[in-house]
Amino acid sequence: MISGVRLIIIGRQGAGKGTQCLRMSRHYVVPHVSTGDMLRAAVREDTELGKQAEQVIQAGQLVGDEIMISLVAERLEQDDARSRGYILDGFPRTVVQAEALDRISVDRPIDAVLDIDVPRDMVIQRISARRTCRDCGANYTAKGGERSPWTCDTCGGDVVQRADDTPDAINRRLDLYESQTSPLLDYYDRQGRLTVIDGSASPDEVFARLTAAIDAARRRS
Ligand code: AMP
Repeated sequence: MISGVRLIIIGRQGAGKGTQCLRMSRHYVVPHVSTGDMLRAAVREDTELGKQAEQVIQAGQLVGDEIMISLVAERLEQDDARSRGYILDGFPRTVVQAEALDRISVDRPIDAVLDIDVPRDMVIQRISARRTCRDCGANYTAKGGERSPWTCDTCGGDVVQRADDTPDAINRRLDLYESQTSPLLDYYDRQGRLTVIDGSASPDEVFARLTAAIDAARRRS
């Protein structure tokens, strides 16, 4: 079995992070830790966190740093993440979260920070057609005329359009990405830790570029 790895995946909504993270988590046999999936599960289960996060998510805004940092710190303490590593998708989203993650991961440092780069107009097209499994988070592309919901090939769950994938919420999230998340790229770039991957190619090609970059980073560390 390939030994574990600790990764941060950054990229605009619709850049293909979800799809690529699922593939990488199978390839490296590490948990895919998606903060968006964790929050959506909390909303579905109507937990205290879900109640706090629901409106914020639907409005396309960011949940508070403190809540997110403790959610992720707790997840990364679990046995699977401690022993194998993790692929972080959707966290960190702000420089405050990145600084907290540096503290959380000080004993087991991150192997690579990857930015899947896809231009804004291309991601708007992709997100409008995106459908997501409510249970396992697998993404699909609607071609028009499908039944709603349809059944997930991976887990049999319901495949639906996410409530925050409306045009208004998409634009707000992309604006937020530029203002809050882009500074993260500078943060990691200044430390020489950032690898930018062109995400506009086919999913197989992007996966090949990601694994090549990750394997090179692991050889260096
Ligand atoms: P995602 O599936 O990554 O697009 O996340 C969906 C929504 O969950 C985001 O639009 C935010 O409202 C919230 N969210 C996910 N991750 C974070 C984070 N690290 N910090 C703040 N809010 C987050």
